[in-house]
Amino acid sequence: MMRGVAVLGSTGSIGKSTLAVLTRQREHFRLVALTGGCNRVDLEAQAAEWKPDFIGLADSQRGVPYPTGPEVLIEAALHPDVDIVVNAVVGVAGLDATLAALKAGKRVALASKETLVMAGDLVSAAARAGGGEIVPIDSEHSAVLQCVAGHPTAVRRLIITGSGGPFRDWPADRVASASVSEALQHPTWRMGRKITIDSATLANKALEIIEAHHLFSLPYDALEAVIHPQSIVHAFVEFCDGSVIAQLGFPSMELPILYALTYPGRLPDRGVRTFDPVAAGPLTFEPVRTEVFRAFRAGVAAGRAGGTAPAVFNAANETAVAAFLDGCITFGRIHETIERTLDAHRQEPAADVETVRAADRWARRRAHELLR
Ligand code: NAD
Ligand code: MG
Repeated sequence: MMRGVAVLGSTGSIGKSTLAVLTRQREHFRLVALTGGCNRVDLEAQAAEWKPDFIGLADSQRGVPYPTGPEVLIEAALHPDVDIVVNAVVGVAGLDATLAALKAGKRVALASKETLVMAGDLVSAAARAGGGEIVPIDSEHSAVLQCVAGHPTAVRRLIITGSGGPFRDWPADRVASASVSEALQHPTWRMGRKITIDSATLANKALEIIEAHHLFSLPYDALEAVIHPQSIVHAFVEFCDGSVIAQLGFPSMELPILYALTYPGRLPDRGVRTFDPVAAGPLTFEPVRTEVFRAFRAGVAAGRAGGTAPAVFNAANETAVAAFLDGCITFGRIHETIERTLDAHRQEPAADVETVRAADRWARRRAHELLR
């Protein structure tokens, strides 16, 4: 059966990888809707090639002959021919479209982890209420889903891996003063700028621990992260009888994207480099250096605290990363800003979307004040 797909954030790294996957799977999926952020040129080039029913630009630009503004994400997600919404938008901007698609009973193939981190319980409730489902695109969570297949209640522990980023073995003082270009040199993955910085601070692993907590309904004591510089093993799942299953592959987002489209089935595909254990070489694992990568520690603590704390962690991180990328602060101030914003936060239950949004706005304001 042909399934309709919307790609939100089609001009980004995951968006482009999604179109690459769809190019090879044209007999199974039809591209119905595309949205971009502010990159009009790339969006229009994609539209010329794919001829989708709907395109929209989330940035409110004038003189554009198709819909613009933040609401285009929801319009694309709710298009009647769309069965699967690939949410590849960076940051909190993807939240409303995720909620709307789940309430409308659609599958959300979710790359935009920030939305689950901010409002995980509300996103899960929207899925239950509307009959929609979230299938992760994040490679570690896709790996878990593939390992768990058929035995979701028998899981005892998850261990997600991370490459450790470009500063994995740097001394703490050198990390604190790392430059933007050094932080953007990811050793194993080519990704958008925000997630590349999150991978250098290891805030990304904390976001992923929180994401795993919501996706797999496991307590934080059952969730761990380990550094694996080769990025070949994406996650380990330990079952109740002590057996451990891992998922492996050379780093590529195209496999997790395809799996999020085909789950629980699989389709033949030749997009991913054939795995070769000899070429993969030695696989090594080491603990997270939590005393250096303090954004990881702060993020996991915020996840454990629950309520509005994860939204505050996410917002402080987004604000600090944007300031770092703009050259306004040093690398070391990213985790300081996160810690100080969380310290000043009075946490509440995340009862509804408005409470979460208010916490998000408060944290952005507070982080901006700290950055002045
Ligand atoms: P990116 O910066 O390359 O692309 C982001 C996309 O979102 C672009 O199309 C951009 O135009 C759009 N966008 C930006 N701001 C927007 C806004 N305010 N409203 C609407 N659209 C907006 O980012 P990416 O690397 O593709 O990452 C996207 C998401 O996927 C992030 O949440 C990231 O954490 C997650 N993710 C990415 C990777 C990866 O390999 N790139 C892996 C795992 C998870
Ligand atoms: Mg990941």
